[in-house]
Amino acid sequence: MVDDDRKAARGIRPQPPSFRRVAVRRLDRLNARLARVTFGGDELAGLRIEEPASSVRLLLPAAGSTTLVVPTWTGNRFLFDDGSAPLIRTFTPLNFDAAARLVDLEIVLHPGGMTSSWAESAQPGDEAAISGPGRGYSVDPRAAGYVLAGDETAAPAMKQLIAAIPATIAVHAIIEIAHREAKVALPSHPRLSAEWVVPAPGSAPGSAILPAVRALEIPPGWKVWAAGEAGAMHDLRRQLFDERGMERGVVTVRGYWKHGR
Ligand SMILES: Cc1cc2nc3c(=O)[nH]c(=O)nc-3n(C[C@H](O)[C@H](O)[C@H](O)COP(=O)(O)OP(=O)(O)OC[C@H]3O[C@@H](n4cnc5c(N)ncnc54)[C@H](O)[C@@H]3O)c2cc1C
Repeated sequence: MVDDDRKAARGIRPQPPSFRRVAVRRLDRLNARLARVTFGGDELAGLRIEEPASSVRLLLPAAGSTTLVVPTWTGNRFLFDDGSAPLIRTFTPLNFDAAARLVDLEIVLHPGGMTSSWAESAQPGDEAAISGPGRGYSVDPRAAGYVLAGDETAAPAMKQLIAAIPATIAVHAIIEIAHREAKVALPSHPRLSAEWVVPAPGSAPGSAILPAVRALEIPPGWKVWAAGEAGAMHDLRRQLFDERGMERGVVTVRGYWKHGR
C-alpha cells in the first residue's frame, strides 16, 4: 500500500492546493440572476488552469466580517481553530489572465445563498481567497458531436466547453434558466444550436433539462457533458445509461449543487 492509499483508508485526504489571497477588482451584474466578480492578486502567480470546466474553491470571510481568515486543513476538511467551518464554495474560473493575475467567477444569485448574498453586496477591495484548480474536462476532438446540458451554475463551464469544441464538431446546448431574462451570451460556434428551457413554476430545479434531453436524438459517436442540481443529474444519468443504454465512456454528468443543502 502506498502512503496516499494508507491515508485514504484512515479517512485522511491529501491537502487540496493552498488558498491564494485575492481581492475583488471589479463587479458586473450580467442579469438579475448572475454577477460576474473579477478577483486579482499577486498570489495568483503560478496558478495554471488548462482545461475547460475546471473549478476553484472560493473562500470568503465569515458572515458579518470583512476580514479573511484562512482555515487549516485537518486531514479531511478545512476548519478554523475553534472547530467552526469556513465559507467555501466551488465555482468555474473564467477568463484567467496569468500575466495580469486576474480571474472571473460568475456567481448565480439565488435566495438563501451565502456566496450569492456576498456577491450582491461585494465591493472592490473585498478580501477572498481561491484554491485550485479542480479537474476540468478534456474535449474529444474525434467526437462526432456534443450535447451539453446544465442549469445556470453550469453555464460558465458550458461557455468554456463551447469555445473549446472544434468548429467542425456539432454542439447542441440545453441550458435551464430561471426565467427568459436570465439568458447569458454564448461564444460563437459555427455548429452550435442552443436551447433555453425554463422550469414550470414550483417544479424541481433541473426539471426542464430532463425532457429536453429525452426529446433529443443523440447519434452514435456523440458525447454528452452535463452538470447541475444533484438530484436532476442523478435522474439524467438514469435516463442516459438505463433508458438509452449509452456507454459510460461517452457521458460525463456532474452534480454541482444539492437542493436544500
Ligand atoms: C465543479 C463546480 C463548478 C461550479 N461552478 C459554478 C459557477 O460557475 N457558478 C455558480 O453560480 N455556481 C457554480 N457551482 C455551484 C455552486 O458551488 C453552488 O450553487 C453553491 O451552493 C453556491 O453557494 P451559495 O453560498 O450561494 O449557496 P449555499 O449557501 O451553498 O446554499 C444555500 C441554499 O441555496 C441552494 N442553492 C445553491 N445553489 C443554488 C442555485 N444555483 N439556485 C438555487 N438554489 C441554490 C442550496 O440548495 C441551499 O439550500 C459549481 C459547483 C461545482 C461543484
